[in-house]
Amino acid sequence: MLKFNTEWTYAPAPESTDHIRIDPEYQLFIGGQFVPPKSKIYFDTLNPATGKKISSVAEAGKKDVDLAVKAARKAYESYWKKMPGKERAKYIYRIARLLQERAREFAVIESMDGGKPIRESRDIDIPLAAAHFFYYAGWADKLDYAFPNQKPKALGVAGQITPWNFPLLMAAWKIAPALACGNTVVLKPAETTPLTALKLAELIRDADLPPGVVNIITGAGATGAALVEHPDVDKIAFTGSTQVGKIIQHAIAGTDKKLTLELGGKAANIIFEDATIDQAVEGIINGIYFNQGHVCCAGSRLFVQESVSKTVIRKLKDRMETLIVGDPLDKNTDIGAINSKEQLQTIRKYIKIAKREGAELYQSSCSLPRGGGYWCRPTLFTNVSQSNRVVQEEIFGPVLTIQTFRTVEEVIKKANNTPYGLSAGVWTDKGAKIFNLTKQLRAGVIWANTFNKFDPTSPFGGYKESGFGREGGLHGLSAYLK
Ligand code: NAD
Repeated sequence: MLKFNTEWTYAPAPESTDHIRIDPEYQLFIGGQFVPPKSKIYFDTLNPATGKKISSVAEAGKKDVDLAVKAARKAYESYWKKMPGKERAKYIYRIARLLQERAREFAVIESMDGGKPIRESRDIDIPLAAAHFFYYAGWADKLDYAFPNQKPKALGVAGQITPWNFPLLMAAWKIAPALACGNTVVLKPAETTPLTALKLAELIRDADLPPGVVNIITGAGATGAALVEHPDVDKIAFTGSTQVGKIIQHAIAGTDKKLTLELGGKAANIIFEDATIDQAVEGIINGIYFNQGHVCCAGSRLFVQESVSKTVIRKLKDRMETLIVGDPLDKNTDIGAINSKEQLQTIRKYIKIAKREGAELYQSSCSLPRGGGYWCRPTLFTNVSQSNRVVQEEIFGPVLTIQTFRTVEEVIKKANNTPYGLSAGVWTDKGAKIFNLTKQLRAGVIWANTFNKFDPTSPFGGYKESGFGREGGLHGLSAYLK
């Protein structure tokens, strides 16, 4: 293994927070205005890098959810559904442009509230969120061309619930296609990362979107459940855990609400002996340690062909030693803070389980920031088998399991042996091998010689317990149309 000189480190390069305005208290965004909650309850949102409070956020109760749905219905019936697509498009383009203008501010707030490195929120989350608004704005007046002879019509009011791993991006995935198709929206972001959605509410108000077209209400599971159960919601779009996805499916069974579920994952990342090994190692790092492993499509199960496994594991460990775990706002940081204390506890629980089941642990020797905050070293496990819980269950942290294989048939069987089916990766020099695997792997998205790449034109979604329905591309439009 390479020996690294640990005497020197990069000088800190923190992103400035001078231009950021975060209010001490946030209200609900209903009918185009920020209004205090009828529930009179507020909860704290914390900075996971310090454990300290950033702001207080309103918790929407049943009455607040009802007001938000009523505002969305009124906006839908009185103007949004009647507005020509080309006029709707102008508003969506405006949101996209404002998001680009204020990108730096959104990136910093995303990293403060969620713990992800500023390099990611600045280069991935925020530009991709804007790209989704641009892309779907372009479709708003072309729905008849997208779905010829089908007379596409909006569904009505969409209730949308998002998780904490890509807060603004998930909101964009949901709001942009819904508006382009002529629906109005009530969005509930995750309780640990509500701030960029609330900033988006400010931006939407600045874009002069007619009142009630987008409503943003904050709260935890009970708020989400009230939105799901509201009788005047026509469609639920949910991204989150498989466990909550199942609860939602039960709750709306027997109603005529439309549903899309984007749920958990346990992606196989498969390295063949003919792959470019150094490039594949970068792909493994990007696949699992990107965003602290808080990625539904994270490449959390690595399969390496036996003949190159020693080399891959050695190179991977060397590369892990160079990763910097630190302040999310520092531009040198590769791995930021774990999103919450509860999530850190979950990750630690799985590390203990793996050790108990006989897996061999390797963690990089990097230093962790002192003081408060929730941190986890990049971790990998060898000596695991298909039945190990860390191989089967979603951990949602920077924890990789490594297994070897000899033949294509063996790796396809192993890769498909999971309740999930969201994504996978294949690394090989042979195009034919890629096409063979993409046909046989049961995963909604398969990357070849790359990993974790997203584009608004490309549909995203899963098989099996990873959910159903697609977001992105034309498929993402059809989820919001009759
Ligand atoms: P979660 O299911 O705990 O919460 C997701 C959202 O649902 C939150 O806004 C939460 O407040 C809300 N919620 C909780 N209980 C609810 C209920 N009973 N009814 C309605 N809403 C309720 O998930 P999480 O921990 O925030 O996110 C992590 C999960 O999200 C992981 O499993 C990850 O794989 C998944 N995810 C999937 C995708 C995808 O595209 N497939 C993308 C991102 C995240």
